[in-house]
Amino acid sequence: MYRFYINNIDDDYHYMELARVFLPDDGFETIAYSGKPVAHLLGSDSFFVNEKGSDDREEIKREFYELLSCITGMRPPWGTLTGVRPLKPALEICRESSVDEMECIIREKYLMSEKKASLISGIADYQLSHVSGIPWEKASMYIGIPFCPTRCAYCSFASNVAPAEEREKYISNLLKEVTCAGRLAEENGTELESIYIGGGTPTTLSSEQLESLIIRVSEAFHIDPAELEFTVEAGRPDTITKNKLDTLKSLGISRISINPQSMKDETLKLIGRDHSADDIREGFRIARETGFDVINADLIAGLPEENVDDFEASLREMIGLKAENITIHTLSVKRGSRLRDNDPGYYRQNAERVSAMLDLSRKMLSSAGYRPYYIYRQKHQIGALENVGWCLPGKHSLYNIRIMEDKQTVIGLGAGAVGKVYHPEEDRLERIANVSNYRIYSERFDDMISRKKEYYK
Ligand code: SF4
Repeated sequence: MYRFYINNIDDDYHYMELARVFLPDDGFETIAYSGKPVAHLLGSDSFFVNEKGSDDREEIKREFYELLSCITGMRPPWGTLTGVRPLKPALEICRESSVDEMECIIREKYLMSEKKASLISGIADYQLSHVSGIPWEKASMYIGIPFCPTRCAYCSFASNVAPAEEREKYISNLLKEVTCAGRLAEENGTELESIYIGGGTPTTLSSEQLESLIIRVSEAFHIDPAELEFTVEAGRPDTITKNKLDTLKSLGISRISINPQSMKDETLKLIGRDHSADDIREGFRIARETGFDVINADLIAGLPEENVDDFEASLREMIGLKAENITIHTLSVKRGSRLRDNDPGYYRQNAERVSAMLDLSRKMLSSAGYRPYYIYRQKHQIGALENVGWCLPGKHSLYNIRIMEDKQTVIGLGAGAVGKVYHPEEDRLERIANVSNYRIYSERFDDMISRKKEYYK
């Protein structure tokens, strides 16, 4: 067990997060310390950081990164940056500097690798040239449908395989929550900028349920789905039918997401999906025939037993299907997932292979005309790497961008949804999380509605 005594800090959180990138959770301890190093504290596995007593967090993190690098021989490409939104500090810098200058600054300030700094600069460049400034007075809305046909091995979301009558009960409560949220939005003069129905897999619902949900949203918020960005996830191809997609399209939905994760049948089976790569191809065919403007496709780098060639074949096919958005995720193995239960250290392996997959995705997507437009990182991702959304120019998802900016109210409805109220005067977000269990959601429904009234007033 390594012990790191870090001088002149109040809170060891940021240093602990940085150490986690290099070492397993049970392999180190970070200790906020004040004063000179005391010899008896420092055994062979104990280290003293920031002896000179700097109070500049970034400077201390750089010293700590170099020490961890020296101990482990690793140089993680994101440098000292551990947060989930690596674009945020870059965009802050861009307020006063050009994108090129920003790229140099982040390399020095965060010890970021050349590749990651150039990725960030590509995303900043896209957003600055294609996305309007943030209308903080408007809101985004997320509606959670916590049902899936089966549970994937890496899943840590509020997703359930539930019988039809429980789905029906859930929807009837959700419709009430939509009405109530619409009333609050009307009282406050809140206008929606984008809506995202995710989960889970929303297309687990029947055509009729999808229709009543979208109609209720339109009526409660006085919107025409065709006139704002409105996305519905149709993630699992085994839930897609022509009837459902026709319903979505006829109601004005222009964006859907079909998420293969991999186009290799053996992998799909291994991760617990109950469909084949052919089902994904068929889902795309139906979606194209129905005439959606934008189809997003998620792929995951680092799935069990996949090599770089497998990943390349999946990506090649998504590019061939001309998905307007392709999101490349690095596998995240969180608590609560089967994969994590079976192999708690899985996410600490295969970093080089996954890194090669991400490099390849960048090369292939760039040459096919895609641009990276949003990025986020999660805990327990292989190699502490990242997720990047790529789009054909102009086809980005505004919702995905706004969610990462953290400067807009998000109305969160349904089980597992996390709403956020933005306070512009303090540049602060206040979280209002709904319960994630869909049965408890129904039981504690009145409670949740009262909390919403309190926060959104
Ligand atoms: S499709 Fe997504 S939400 Fe559903 S089980 Fe798989 S990972 Fe979980």
